Amino acid sequence: MDLSTPLTSVKGIGPARAAMLEAKGLSVVEDLLAYVPFRYEDRSNLKTIAELAPGEMATVIVEVRSARLSGFKRRNLGLFEARFSDASRAILVGKWFHGGYLANVLAEGMRLSLFGKVEFDSYAGELTMLHPEFEILSGDDDDGEASLHTGRVVPVYEAVSKITTRVLRSITHRVLAWLDPLEDHLPESIRQRLKLPDRWTATRQTHFPPPDADLRLLNQFRSPAQFRLIFEEFFWLECGITLKRRNARTLPGVAFEINDRVRDRVKSMLPFKPTAAQKRVIKEIADDMKMPRPMNRLLQGDVGSGKTIVAAEAAVIAIENGYQVAVLAPTEILAAQHGFYFRQILSKLGYVVVLLTGSFSSREKGQLKKLAAEGFAHMLIGTHALLEKDVEFKKLGLAIIDEQHRFGVLQRLGLVQKGIHPDVLVMTATPIPRTLAMTLYGDLDVSVIDELPPGRKPIITKHATADRVEQVYSFLKRQIDEGRQAYVVYPVIEESETQAMKAAQQMYEHLSREVFPQISVGLIHGRLGANEKEAVMQRFKDGEIKILVSTTVIEVGVDVPNASVMLIEQAERFGLAQLHQLRGRVGRGAAQSYCILVTDKMNDAARERIRTLVESTDGFYISEMDLKLRGPGEFFGTKQAGLPSLRVANILRDTEILEIARREAMSFIDHPPAPGDLDRAAAYIRDHWQRRYGLVTVG
Ligand code: ADP
Ligand code: MG
Repeated sequence: MDLSTPLTSVKGIGPARAAMLEAKGLSVVEDLLAYVPFRYEDRSNLKTIAELAPGEMATVIVEVRSARLSGFKRRNLGLFEARFSDASRAILVGKWFHGGYLANVLAEGMRLSLFGKVEFDSYAGELTMLHPEFEILSGDDDDGEASLHTGRVVPVYEAVSKITTRVLRSITHRVLAWLDPLEDHLPESIRQRLKLPDRWTATRQTHFPPPDADLRLLNQFRSPAQFRLIFEEFFWLECGITLKRRNARTLPGVAFEINDRVRDRVKSMLPFKPTAAQKRVIKEIADDMKMPRPMNRLLQGDVGSGKTIVAAEAAVIAIENGYQVAVLAPTEILAAQHGFYFRQILSKLGYVVVLLTGSFSSREKGQLKKLAAEGFAHMLIGTHALLEKDVEFKKLGLAIIDEQHRFGVLQRLGLVQKGIHPDVLVMTATPIPRTLAMTLYGDLDVSVIDELPPGRKPIITKHATADRVEQVYSFLKRQIDEGRQAYVVYPVIEESETQAMKAAQQMYEHLSREVFPQISVGLIHGRLGANEKEAVMQRFKDGEIKILVSTTVIEVGVDVPNASVMLIEQAERFGLAQLHQLRGRVGRGAAQSYCILVTDKMNDAARERIRTLVESTDGFYISEMDLKLRGPGEFFGTKQAGLPSLRVANILRDTEILEIARREAMSFIDHPPAPGDLDRAAAYIRDHWQRRYGLVTVG
């Protein structure tokens, strides 16, 4: 048996269990070993029921005295109640709401380990636990391994479908007993310096901690054994990223020339004086563009910080050097917006800016593609349509990608392959904590605009419940009377764009006929064609439309400085990042701007989101809250977004270990301790980690 042995060959895993494990991504022994406990219980030194104190979290070993579904049936709560006792003869009551299923699980006479919060029910005068976790200690699959489950620090695994923690514990124990000691691939020098246990010891002790293990450290995932496994996972990830990045730097790229003429052209294009942050960032970009290797740069800046003009400066450099520029946007409306913006500022210089989106007819598309392929178009702007195979550039020198988190890394590469390693500038308004940025976009250099253009007043954010919406409308009216404009936004939920559209349509009619009959109200939604959308946006920009009702299509990029109110209906249905983005559509002019969040029903998470937004306009803070509230998986979207799938490590919980691993990985790659170390590491990563980390190429 070795790490690649399929789990089906392990005693105790039949086809049914194998299928459940497989569904969870566990198919070989290595996978099982990476499925580490999420909690540990000290069952060596247990209290009796009589010794329990209300308020504490405790583990007790008990016997079931009675177990039954009780009362409350009328209210359909299905309260399941079990009474337990132990050698101390005291009684403990376990309660489970909706616990009907337990009737087939718990029976009189069974021995259980219970874990939960002890409470005192003063009415009944009994100690209780509500929804305790439990493990049946006597059962039919007991096979002489009983000592595994009691009398020691016991690992608790998250059940895999119907496979209980107890079964997982037995199987893992068996596998560890049969396996030969694991080879250690971590460089010896690092292991020694950080005093890390070897891989075999770390693996065994993570699953079955030694008797003297510190329970507190274990439950914080900081025992030496756990630290080692977490470190290892991050270390190989960071090595992979560093190698990839180094590799990218050796590719031949375009060395753009930046002389006085180019500088003059850039200056004559600028409609305003750049901020200090914008100047710094454009210098970083220009320095990169001069180098004879491809630029891979992430331009990060909160909504409204002025990323677009920086991108335009980079574009002028490329075009003045005789190259073409591609601009990739996540939505049609944003592509249209970019088309409008870039055309406006670049046509002064005589450049041809072409917009290509999915809503053009294929004949139109054909003509536009020809402009790009023959080199007449200096800049081609579009959505995913740009990624189609038949889109070709004569001489692509710079690709600007807006809101990267919406594009898979592979797609990004697809675009890049159309030129000979053009420079790539990725713009994102999702500020992410730096370490995470370095890991997610590890192959990119990062530039940050950390300053807003001058004269911006912080946006005032208010929350109103739906029953107060009349007041909100009269506020809106006053703002319009003062010459301002407003957005009214409805949520689009992925599956039901149609529904949101209907809601927006209805609201549009309601607002334009009943609430604001004297005011010009416009409507924009995802089903409008690109030309119609552009026409509506133009009328809003020109101030002809005062109130723009919309589904989330305006989420990113819309730029109308005179708009001072962002009214978001059913705000509880939006995510934090989305709300922050929407809010960033106002506050772009000199007038005081407002964001009003109207909500219907809220759960705790929604309340937390609304509170965060009312409290803060700091994109970094909001982003961190978002990450906390949603967890990394959801926050970053699918694996496609480039998030490595980590098993033992957790990118939020283990950030400080990530930093250490990152440092070690970079110094290891820059100064490998012995000749051949680097090749060995690269080969090991290729064989074991590449696919899991979503790294496309390594070294
Ligand atoms: P984002 O970073 O969200 O893409 P934009 O590039 O759309 O921000 O810029 C937001 C607004 O600020 C635009 O109206 C833009 O013209 C304006 N702006 C950007 N930089 C400056 C500056 N240095 N001075 C004045 N206005 C600026
Ligand atoms: Mg933008």
